[in-house]
Amino acid sequence: MRDPRHDILFTPLQIGPKTAKNRFYQVPHCNGGGYRDPSAVVEMRRTKAEGGWGVIFTEQTEIHPTSEITPFIEQHLWEDKDIPALARMAEAMKSHGALAGIQLAYSGINGPNLYSREVPLAVTGGPILTFTSDPVQARTMDKEDIRDLRRWFRAAFRRSHQAGFDLICLYGAHGFGILQHFLSRATNHRTDEYGGDLRNRARFLREIVEDARETTKGELAVTLRMSLHEAGAYGFSNAELRDFIAMHAELPDLWDLANGTWEACSGTSRFKDEGAQEELVRGIKELTPKPVVGVGRFTSPDAMVRQIRTGVLDFIGAARPSIADPFLPLKVQEGRYEDIRECIGCNICVSGDMTQGISRCTQNTAFMEEWRKGWHPDRARPKGASESVLIVGAGPTGLEAALQAARRGYRVTLAEASTTLGGRVAKERLLPGLSAWGRVADYRTGQMAVMPTVDIYRDSPLTAEDILAMGAEHVAIATGATWRRDAVARLHLHPIPTDPAMPLYTPDDLMAGRAPEGQTVALYDDDHFYMGSVLAELLVAKGNRVHFITPSVKVAEWTDNTLEQGTIMRRLLEIGVEIHLSKAPDAIGKAEMTLGCTWTGRQTALPADAVVFVTSRRPNDSLFHDAKVLDWQAAGIRSLKLIGDAAAPGPIAWATYAGRAWAEDLDQPDRGDALSFRREIAALDPGVSLLP
Ligand code: ADP
Ligand code: SF4
Repeated sequence: MRDPRHDILFTPLQIGPKTAKNRFYQVPHCNGGGYRDPSAVVEMRRTKAEGGWGVIFTEQTEIHPTSEITPFIEQHLWEDKDIPALARMAEAMKSHGALAGIQLAYSGINGPNLYSREVPLAVTGGPILTFTSDPVQARTMDKEDIRDLRRWFRAAFRRSHQAGFDLICLYGAHGFGILQHFLSRATNHRTDEYGGDLRNRARFLREIVEDARETTKGELAVTLRMSLHEAGAYGFSNAELRDFIAMHAELPDLWDLANGTWEACSGTSRFKDEGAQEELVRGIKELTPKPVVGVGRFTSPDAMVRQIRTGVLDFIGAARPSIADPFLPLKVQEGRYEDIRECIGCNICVSGDMTQGISRCTQNTAFMEEWRKGWHPDRARPKGASESVLIVGAGPTGLEAALQAARRGYRVTLAEASTTLGGRVAKERLLPGLSAWGRVADYRTGQMAVMPTVDIYRDSPLTAEDILAMGAEHVAIATGATWRRDAVARLHLHPIPTDPAMPLYTPDDLMAGRAPEGQTVALYDDDHFYMGSVLAELLVAKGNRVHFITPSVKVAEWTDNTLEQGTIMRRLLEIGVEIHLSKAPDAIGKAEMTLGCTWTGRQTALPADAVVFVTSRRPNDSLFHDAKVLDWQAAGIRSLKLIGDAAAPGPIAWATYAGRAWAEDLDQPDRGDALSFRREIAALDPGVSLLP
């Protein structure tokens, strides 16, 4: 039963000419699929509709080829022929009574146009400001360009209307949208009527909102996604934003408030708590009669209600919480709080966009697989002919495999060697900043606790003989991986010379509580994700002087993809970690590390009392190989599989995905060489060749 205190989340609210059925507002979010994978995105959005969101948005939709952000894959609305894919999206979004929104973007100084090859147009010209430092500059728009841009926006408004959307969101946050570039003195140096004081810098916004209303005959709601705060002397500050809103209190039908940069807005749980933007948002509602939406990785209904009751927000904006659990609104509505699958704030979803792969989610293994594989966030396909499965190891892989197999209707036995469920997340959740990782285990153990068909055995290290004796029809070995002790990873493909007198530690040692204290520690990171910097923090907290050594040109290089790299660098510098870039150990001596420059080979000696290797992991696959050589078929086992980190170590999201994939494949016909997912190929244009 729903707690009556949460009823307010289900009161409808008007947004201009439209009414949202509740206060759950899925703000625009990327997904790494965009125009390349239209049906995959459509079905992803459809699950949000089914899950009860009141408002659902597309990701950034580029309105014209003079501004596009290749290599990143978003949506396009460049021509009428882009309408059908977006119309299908709008239809899916509205399928359960949600309002369908489209976010329109013109990226100006942020769009390098690597695909269209058009000269980028900006409020004020200059080098393109992207993650990729493209060697491209934009030209300053003249008055004619601004008239053109208004016309392109009007075409996008017409096309959005035609595609069936209810809401238009004009993008001016995260540094990505030209509306922000007009408002900010950092990016607007104009001396005409579009530059100078705030009223002038806001002129384009006023014009464009008017154009939107006129083009759509007032039938669509128009929302503004505004930057909450830009740092720096010239940035569009929170104070200026408040002035702007006070001056234009009735301009849009809704104010959608996000932070000035994407990194600041979508911080990981390691660095940002739930509701972290509240200070920047509080009081804005008093400046305007229009509804206000804000984000904050909200997963707790109590925190959501507090935002509304205390007059901070009208709508609870969510991107990541809606990815981790598309059914969050419905679960709150039905009082099924224990079923909420909370986002862990790892930003693996973001990495899908940053790497131009397709996004995945650590918690919701079905994310972006709804169409490709027919997976659903909460439902499972009925089981096949066999009855029972055994899963060995209760890490993220084993837990997800067990839960999904149980949902399909199999009788599940899950055996875990230790007394704690969760495997790596049971240990990593105790590290500085990573407590939310524990939600991966908590959600799954919570779900299985009430399933009578699941038997979980703790403190049960199984042998190959045990496995054969247990009588399950399908067996998955999910025994995880162990951090290596010999520096082998990317740079060193073979172990390096090491004096046995030097105390050596791995992340597993540190997580087990075996850590140096009050010493000089040389930490070598050839992993490049979060672990090295997290352990550096742990070591500093234990009173060590820490040297962080990486062969890369930056610390934790891959965390560029989770938007954390800058924050990690800042944190390490602030806590006094000494950083050695483009360096790697050539040898480990009794009381020193011989460091080599990765470019010149020049060697230096770094005195150290202890060494920590954060390099790579070795799969724990011996149990699998032991079982494989026995006559397991004779024991009635129909399939024996090695899955997750035990097969190929990777991030936690790879592990949960592997668990799901195994459970989904049970009793499925052998697909031979066919792909394991559906794929869409762009239709060939019938146009004739223009070549002579
Ligand atoms: P993954 O990320 O693939 O889930 P983890 O390392 O997180 O891998 O989890 C593996 C789990 O398997 C650990 O909890 C570990 O205790 C357990 N395990 C390892 N060997 C055995 C075994 N022989 N019997 C039962 N459990 C095992
Ligand atoms: Fe949350 Fe991580 Fe899933 Fe993104 S990938 S929605 S941050 S759990």
